[in-house]
Amino acid sequence: MSLQQVTILGATGSVGTSTLDVLALHPSKFSVFALTANDNVLALLELCLRFRPIFAVMRDKSAAQALAAELERQRCDTTVLAGSEGLCHVASCEEVDTVMAAIVGAAGLESSLAAAQAGKRLLLANKEALVMSGALFMETVRKNGAQLLPIDSEHNAIFQCLANGSPEHADGVSKILLTGSGGPLRTLPLDQLDAVTPDQACAHPNWEMGRKISVDSATMMNKGLELIEAKWLFDTTPDKIEIVIHPQSTIHSMVQYVDGSVLAQLGNPDMRTPIAHGLGWPRRLESGVEALDLIAQNQMTFEPLDRVRFPAVALCEHAANAQGSISIGLNAANEIAVDSFLHELIRFTDIPIVIEAVLDQTEETQTPTMEHILAVDTEARSKAREQISKLVKSR
Ligand code: NAD
Ligand code: MG
Repeated sequence: MSLQQVTILGATGSVGTSTLDVLALHPSKFSVFALTANDNVLALLELCLRFRPIFAVMRDKSAAQALAAELERQRCDTTVLAGSEGLCHVASCEEVDTVMAAIVGAAGLESSLAAAQAGKRLLLANKEALVMSGALFMETVRKNGAQLLPIDSEHNAIFQCLANGSPEHADGVSKILLTGSGGPLRTLPLDQLDAVTPDQACAHPNWEMGRKISVDSATMMNKGLELIEAKWLFDTTPDKIEIVIHPQSTIHSMVQYVDGSVLAQLGNPDMRTPIAHGLGWPRRLESGVEALDLIAQNQMTFEPLDRVRFPAVALCEHAANAQGSISIGLNAANEIAVDSFLHELIRFTDIPIVIEAVLDQTEETQTPTMEHILAVDTEARSKAREQISKLVKSR
């Protein structure tokens, strides 16, 4: 069998490097075709020297020039491309079989969609792409015969608990149970939330992730985005998805059937498991993750969602039930607010306040084309920035 050619969008990130770890275990099955990064030259250089991809792409053009010069000096014949054209090229190139979409945020939308358009096997970690463009994205996947495999651990678990990954083949599904750990601030006294620092918010008890998704986990915005993600991936409605708090993250999500059965997928909290599942599907591949030790695990507990502590979830539920523009506004406002929090411009508790203010000003419309989507995104980002300067001035 010929080697499967794999492109990793966002190769220097947390999901990207875990993907490379799994690929390195299977050199007879996979070959690294392209690796991409935003602007971190040294990180991508190191990966290029190790994996020798055909292409490396840097979104930042001067970073691309610096990488090309250094690769030439070190006699590595990887071709360097730049910008979003470069990202879309390596996502859709004829030689590519599989694309891991692991860029964070709206920045990953175009290239993830390019892979769907080119009918690739698409391993989707970039949940924001689906939140922004759900209807268009799923339609693009269907029309072009792409194979969409969820990498977000909850959605990968749900996929595994649905026969053949699809509710069409499991019409006895009564509910999807989306589990979440509750993040690092689940038990912090409520009156201390205002003073939470970026490092505190990023100190997730179970998962090691990039800083944006770590803050999303602390606000539980992540679970809300995942609700929208699940709605699109599994062609269901928000009322059929229930969020359950499970602090140990041993169960990664569940599916409840009409006969009373509940199927769960368990494992150590390590992204290499869903990544290996997506790479190997429908076969199983070794991932490097240790077997789950249930005795050492000792306990599994469950709690309802605390809606007072985590107001962001209700905003996501509202978006999940509304037309496309609301999810775009939600995602854009969150990205701007999280970035401002990480730069210590606003407080942790300001994040949902900024999002709500932007949603109040976002008109509810359908968003059938990329042009519409990008226009709503741009508008919501500027509204979020306005809201943040108001907050900053008022203090
Ligand atoms: P990360 O911050 O660790 O890595 C992000 C990657 O995207 C990096 O390679 C970076 O260079 C690239 N990137 C950033 N901005 C870019 C831009 N403007 N243009 C092009 N490339 C850009 O993020 P992560 O934690 O690996 O998360 C990646 C995606 O996977 C996110 O959508 C996240 O929600 C999702 N996800 C992550 C995890 C996890 O465990 N980390 C789990 C589930 C889902
Ligand atoms: Mg997740």
